[in-house]
Amino acid sequence: MTDRFVHEQGASRVVFGVGALDGAGDEVARLGARRVLLISDRHSAAHAEAVAGRLGGRVRGRITRTATHVPGESADAASREAAAHGADLLLCVGGGSATGLAKAVALRTGLRIVAVPTTYAGSEMTPIWGLTRDGRKETGRDPAVRPVTVIYDPALTTRLPGRLSAASGMNALAHLVEAAYAPRLSPLTAAVADQGIRVLAKALPRVVTDPEDMAARSDALQGAWLAGWVLGTTAMGLHHKLCHVLGGSYGLPHAATHSALLPYVTAFNRRAPRLGRVAEALGAADAATGLWELRTSIGAPASLAQPGFGTADIDRVAGLVAAEPPAGPRPVEPAGVRAILRAALDGARPVTTGDGDAP
Ligand code: NAD
Repeated sequence: MTDRFVHEQGASRVVFGVGALDGAGDEVARLGARRVLLISDRHSAAHAEAVAGRLGGRVRGRITRTATHVPGESADAASREAAAHGADLLLCVGGGSATGLAKAVALRTGLRIVAVPTTYAGSEMTPIWGLTRDGRKETGRDPAVRPVTVIYDPALTTRLPGRLSAASGMNALAHLVEAAYAPRLSPLTAAVADQGIRVLAKALPRVVTDPEDMAARSDALQGAWLAGWVLGTTAMGLHHKLCHVLGGSYGLPHAATHSALLPYVTAFNRRAPRLGRVAEALGAADAATGLWELRTSIGAPASLAQPGFGTADIDRVAGLVAAEPPAGPRPVEPAGVRAILRAALDGARPVTTGDGDAP
């Protein structure tokens, strides 16, 4: 059999390293921007001010609150703010929610984004936007929302608490694992995905053991970069679809949802041939079990159970996901989705044998 693939890759300038934030002013200057709208989340305010200090008066407006899954009203308000200041650049500092808000503004205005990520979500490397209105999360792809410059400074991540780091790391791993069954996967993306998994599997245990270990933080952030890159060059499958439905309709926290689901969606798709490579990169005999063991060892969230979501909601979510089934190695029907959700509520070691619906 010969390979068939499509490889499409947008361009971002990536500046990586401890202290990379010091170059933020130069990065903005080389883009010729003069009126910057600075978007940051609550925990990144100090970093955002450090960036502002390096921009020599170019910051004209500030948004200091973000919300996960980008509520439509936040995007409306931020777009008005960009227009009011005549912004010619969006600079976001923070987790995926800050990046997501900048993308929602870029989608309407065409403004370029410089992103300074502080979690492992990976959004900064993708052309994917998300917006939630009326309890429904919509996502799409548009090259205009991909940040033109990404500044990765591991020093910004040492305050990310261990449990949040672990959850965010599982979010990054999900991008890499889901590539294993993405249609028309290119050999370049496959190789990057394998490397990303290897890097994160080694770095995350070190990060949670010592959140201030700069070498571990640097490795984890590199893994997140590779994960975002992979997500940006492949399609999303069942795992991401489930996360978007649960986030948009039930407001579940994004990274924790990835963490709770990943071993079980992987077990459901266990026939995908490339999952063998995932297992190898994890140093495990089986991909789903390897992910479950890594998740357990780093103390990442292990159950979907949250206020507002429980067993009674399983049927509705299964119906929503199966109504628009994503492409993948296995047909997505309500029974299979129900089994994944039940397992993810329970959090037990995934079942990796048999052909039935049980993941
Ligand atoms: P988040 O941005 O909501 O951050 C989670 C929490 O961590 C927040 O309270 C934030 O203030 C805090 N935080 C962030 N950085 C910190 C730091 N360094 N130290 C201490 N606290 C810190 O969560 P997230 O998981 O990074 O991002 C989730 C969002 O990103 C979701 O809306 C998701 O849909 C989106 N996302 C989009 C893509 C894409 O390609 N479009 C990819 C991944 C995630």
